[in-house]
Amino acid sequence: MPARYDLHTHSTHSDGTTTPAQIAAEAASLGLSGFALTDHDTVEGWDEARAHAALAGIDFLPGMEVTTKHDHRSTHLLAYGIEADSAELTAALARVRESRHGRAREMVLRLSADFDIDWQSIIEGGEDRTLGRPHIADALVSAGYFADRGAAFAEVLHPRSRYYVPTYAIDTVDAIRMVRDAGGVAVLAHPAAGRMTRPVDLSALSDFVAAGLWGIELHHPENRAEWIPELTEAAARLGLHVTGASDYHGAGKANRLGECTSDEQTWQAIRSLVAVAR
Ligand code: AMP
Ligand code: FE
Ligand code: FE
Ligand code: ZN
Repeated sequence: MPARYDLHTHSTHSDGTTTPAQIAAEAASLGLSGFALTDHDTVEGWDEARAHAALAGIDFLPGMEVTTKHDHRSTHLLAYGIEADSAELTAALARVRESRHGRAREMVLRLSADFDIDWQSIIEGGEDRTLGRPHIADALVSAGYFADRGAAFAEVLHPRSRYYVPTYAIDTVDAIRMVRDAGGVAVLAHPAAGRMTRPVDLSALSDFVAAGLWGIELHHPENRAEWIPELTEAAARLGLHVTGASDYHGAGKANRLGECTSDEQTWQAIRSLVAVAR
């Protein structure tokens, strides 16, 4: 069987439910040749993931999923192989994580008027994680209000909910430039995610390419199939590389590790371009 690599996974350092070590072991047992750890806005899991990938005899690529927005659209940007101590990116990411922390606190405060949850139940799972709505969902599930994260999102955590509070996001064009300046490769995550009302705008996509976007994650479990042909054409026209990945979140989402993958050529192409290749 040809080599397969999963380029998008989340651990307990953000909103996944499995540790980097567990992801490495699971990836190996599935027969994947390697994986990238792409926690939201943090590089905290890299060392553990790297060490356990080596133990399991598979490859590892350090990555991250950066919280960005462009033209009022929430846009997730995968960043591979960045120099973790690049000053501008590090400062921007610290601001993103701090805003996420304050935003989660505010959402919990609003929810606590109607639900018996408190801040303690959020930070029990680790205060240093990149906090997001999934952690609030977990608290609501533990307290017995919802069956799973998906139900909590559908009922009270979605952007039109009265409990919703926005969080700071870097402009996508600025983020792409920062990722490039930090020696990384930038790939647009799930550009046709079904939870959005439309796919990424084609003129925005051209702006991203002008800023240095390298690839686009067209193979992703949540991409809506009917939006893919137009984006495939645009990717070819703009010279974007097409990637595939699962966006694994452990038990936090239905996405299975290795459900969508990238091939050897894509993996090596990224590795040959980045500042930190393993
Ligand atoms: P936030 O980071 O607070 O904006 O929350 C967005 C994160 O929540 C995404 O990274 C997804 O992993 C997760 N998410 C979004 N919708 C759902 C859902 N329906 N079920 C489980 N997780 C979700
Ligand atoms: Fe997530
Ligand atoms: Fe995402
Ligand atoms: Zn993700």
